[in-house]
Amino acid sequence: MDQVQQQQQLSPHVLIFPFPAQGHVNSMLKLSELLCLAGINITFLASYNIHNRLLRHSNVISRFSKYPGFNLEHLPDGINENNIHTPGGVMELYTALRSIGRPFLTELLSKDSGDGGKNMPPLTCIIADGILSVALDVAQEFGLPVLYFRTISALAFWAYFCIPQLIEAGELPFSGNDMDLPIVNVKGMEGFLRRRDLPSFCRVDDLTNPDFNSLLNETLQTPRAKGLILNTFEDLEGPILSHIRTHCPNLYTIGPLHAHLKTRLQVHTLNSNSDSSSYSSNSLWEEDRSCINWLDKQPYKSVLYVSFGSITIITREKLWEFWHGIVNSGVRFLWVIRPDLIRAWNDELESSNKSTPMQLEEATKERGHMVEWAPQEEVLAHPAVAGFLTHSGWNSTLESIVEGVPMLCWPYFADQQPNSRFVGEVWKIGLDMKDTCDRRIVEKMIRDLMVERKDELLHRADHMAKLARKSIEKGGSSFCNLERLIDDIKSAYFNGC
Ligand code: UDP
Repeated sequence: MDQVQQQQQLSPHVLIFPFPAQGHVNSMLKLSELLCLAGINITFLASYNIHNRLLRHSNVISRFSKYPGFNLEHLPDGINENNIHTPGGVMELYTALRSIGRPFLTELLSKDSGDGGKNMPPLTCIIADGILSVALDVAQEFGLPVLYFRTISALAFWAYFCIPQLIEAGELPFSGNDMDLPIVNVKGMEGFLRRRDLPSFCRVDDLTNPDFNSLLNETLQTPRAKGLILNTFEDLEGPILSHIRTHCPNLYTIGPLHAHLKTRLQVHTLNSNSDSSSYSSNSLWEEDRSCINWLDKQPYKSVLYVSFGSITIITREKLWEFWHGIVNSGVRFLWVIRPDLIRAWNDELESSNKSTPMQLEEATKERGHMVEWAPQEEVLAHPAVAGFLTHSGWNSTLESIVEGVPMLCWPYFADQQPNSRFVGEVWKIGLDMKDTCDRRIVEKMIRDLMVERKDELLHRADHMAKLARKSIEKGGSSFCNLERLIDDIKSAYFNGC
């Protein structure tokens, strides 16, 4: 056994287990790399399909090849990740994850080493996605500590966590159709939270709804974990974090993870005199880099970047509304239209007008560019980008915050509804267009973002970007919390959630 192997044998070994979706996999891979940099052995457990897509489209394999203690594993086939947005889809996914994940995890933990023949030491800890309590159940049988990593914002987690109080106070389920009525039983959000700002799964008539219950039950189990990791920073969500700490005191706020990783990689490269590229892709689609060449030719702070993330689907009619609104606003735009973004809800819609109006095609050629998938972090960091029309997914929100890019929010589902409220009303670094995409409103709000209120929003976004960067510098809150997380994993001692 050489020295590296000996060192590896003495280091802790963490199993990282994400929910099978792009945003979750992305942030948990960033965490994995941060822990690898600290000399911790990692086994990353993806679903079968996600694993295959990572191999095809990301640079995970080449990037992690420099860490001898990294091992990529996958669950057996049988999990369909594509129906998450259909009614019952969340519960269906949970059922599959439980029935496939439970026996697999049990077998993995029964082995002396949780590796793929890579000579790894036995597993010492699990970092599971904060909505995968199957990991808690299995780990408990083996006496292995589990930390939870909830990949959404603290504010959205807290909104989910307070659902029992909302039910008790009669605020859920909603009675009547007024979505602007205030919600007063989410502590710390009184005064600005409305019904429409609660996570979308709260929009149910019947509290026995299986998707609503799956997510609620998963959230309520969080205090069973030994600690809770969140991809956020204290200056962004401090007041909400104080509320969470009353239930989960062992909180590690270590975000924004993508920027944190970039910074630590730079320091590592300098210190080790190595020549490693910082280019990092965890994409499940092929990145189309033509958009960077296109951005290079656009004026400074002139482009609206449009992307609705990896899960959103919209009807063709909504797409037309957006397209008209964007074109009529007169701004330059870069738009990600995933191959599976448009889905007709029924045959009637599917057969309705499919051809693009000529004027949209012309305007797009003149001042727009479309791709199926973009290297988003790079796009948002590009000097030509001045605004982001986003679905308010948490990764996208943080990526925009770090680059000081103001957002126009059109939340699609889940945590995105409360996220966009905070962007517009609390942090004031963007505008919230929730629940409508009428072409006239789209046009007006893009003009507000990109022209009328541009300076004011850029100023505030720039301030938040500075706070984000400060948190990951040496001595900053996220920097210190990551150090504490690393120490706790190394000593295998956790204060408990
Ligand atoms: N993303 C990307 N290219 C795209 C669109 C999205 O790399 O064209 C990445 C984006 O940078 C983010 C993730 O996909 O890290 C989407 O996660 P998010 O939490 O924003 O939304 P979700 O896809 O989970 O709804």
